[in-house]
Amino acid sequence: GTRPTTLTEAAAHHARHRPDGMAIECQERRVTFRELHERGNRTAHGLLAEGLAPGARVGYLGRDSEYYYEALLACARTGAVLVPVDPRLTEQELAHVLRDSQAALLLAEEDRLEAVDRIRSTLPELRTVLPLCADAPGGGFPGWQAGRPDTDLPGVTRSRDPLVQIYTSGTTGAPKGVVLRQGSFWAVNDLLARHRLDWLDWREDDRSLNLLPGHHIGGPWWFLQGFRAGATNVLVRDFQGQHTLRLIRDSGITTTLMVPAMLQVLLSEPGVSPADFTGLRKVVYGGSPIPESLLRRCLETMRCEFAQIYGLTETCASAVCLPPADHVPGNPRLAAAGRPYPGVAVQIVDDAGNPLPTGQVGEVLIDTPAVMDGYWQRPRESALTVADGWLRTGDAGCVDDDGYLYIRDRIKDVILVAGENVYPAEVENALRMCPAVADAAVVGRPDRVRGEAVHAYVVPRAGDRPDPRELREFLHGRLAEYKMPTAYEFVERLPRNVSGKVLRRALRARD
Ligand code: ATP
Repeated sequence: GTRPTTLTEAAAHHARHRPDGMAIECQERRVTFRELHERGNRTAHGLLAEGLAPGARVGYLGRDSEYYYEALLACARTGAVLVPVDPRLTEQELAHVLRDSQAALLLAEEDRLEAVDRIRSTLPELRTVLPLCADAPGGGFPGWQAGRPDTDLPGVTRSRDPLVQIYTSGTTGAPKGVVLRQGSFWAVNDLLARHRLDWLDWREDDRSLNLLPGHHIGGPWWFLQGFRAGATNVLVRDFQGQHTLRLIRDSGITTTLMVPAMLQVLLSEPGVSPADFTGLRKVVYGGSPIPESLLRRCLETMRCEFAQIYGLTETCASAVCLPPADHVPGNPRLAAAGRPYPGVAVQIVDDAGNPLPTGQVGEVLIDTPAVMDGYWQRPRESALTVADGWLRTGDAGCVDDDGYLYIRDRIKDVILVAGENVYPAEVENALRMCPAVADAAVVGRPDRVRGEAVHAYVVPRAGDRPDPRELREFLHGRLAEYKMPTAYEFVERLPRNVSGKVLRRALRARD
């Protein structure tokens, strides 16, 4: 098939060749490829009328809907950059993102308008706020889009132009704007195509479930993959186990991207069985480490193709992939995050930046064509993060003889017990294997004798009341003595972010 290189090209192509094909389904609404193309064009004319020059930042404060993608197409068309903002941010966090990005225009869902009003005086660059009526019939940006031409704007758009700016706290400090180019969203697909590898193969007749929000890299990355292929994107605005199961079972979903925490929720729904997944062709998962026991259950219950991805916002989602062919029960490689795509390089270095031999654990560096343009207006941090083409991931990991990458954990989360590195993920994995444990997280706590000690937060399985002695006995023989938690705390749930990662920062802040 064709491989458009820009969003504009892809939108025009689908509008011409399959105008009535379904591009987006969101709640009860249906948007064809022709409609999406035309609405994107109208929004682009609107951005021009607002006087937005190429490079201008457009904020989007709302949950997922076709309007997000209309705005994205319009940005791609005009050279503006979309800044998707997590609608759950506090006013203070919101003000940081809008001020930092210097957004000139903000598309905001109605229930956030009051909050925007309250911080507006601190945002001198913000000229226009457009209310977004996501749920109204024929909603979107009424009065603003209406009456604008749906014709193509003159001029070309380029795959190298910046498209989105996603805020991430990365390894340290306040959230920074990661600037990503249009072409980066399809870079790994092009590499795979060139080598005739089908790790992430897409089909025109795919019905793709989009569970990750637009302010997380996974949302637009997954959407644009399907969009380019001409697949239907089914948008879900709040992830919910039963609802997602029903969608997969009853509405012909063939493929989806999930973070491990979502898989965990799905497989814990009462009565879940292979019959729920018969229409599913492929599941791509990643964004945080997957517990071995969960992956095993996924293979048994979902019985479709699986691909794991590893990457960061800074690498535009996926730089490494564990292909379907490796997803064979019992394969030791299932412990790996995957292999770099052909044309992507991974290197492991020590604290001083010197390359380490195979098998040794150090910081993971990545060289990928999809690497970010940089952190918006932070040249110093950008230069510290990407040097000579190598992106510092902040993850600890190692590579085996065949180039498979194993992620241990985030470097800043490593616990130093009497001079020994303890990787929290390893201890958590061991704890989760205990039948009485539903979930677990560990962090380091200052310890007078050993520097740090391992402190465990444990969510007991419903109806279970494990006691610390029982847990210690379970771990005995599974973990070296220095890795053993010295304190256990039982909690109802663990704090997690949207990508399902445990917020260890929040746990460390507790006393
Ligand atoms: P924020 O910084 O905004 O709080 P975040 O740190 O989760 O969010 P991302 O860029 O989405 O930002 O996360 C990238 C990190 O996620 C990686 O550095 C790695 O630690 C983890 N990760 C992603 N995929 C995998 C995977 N397949 N296995 C293990 N860890 C993964």
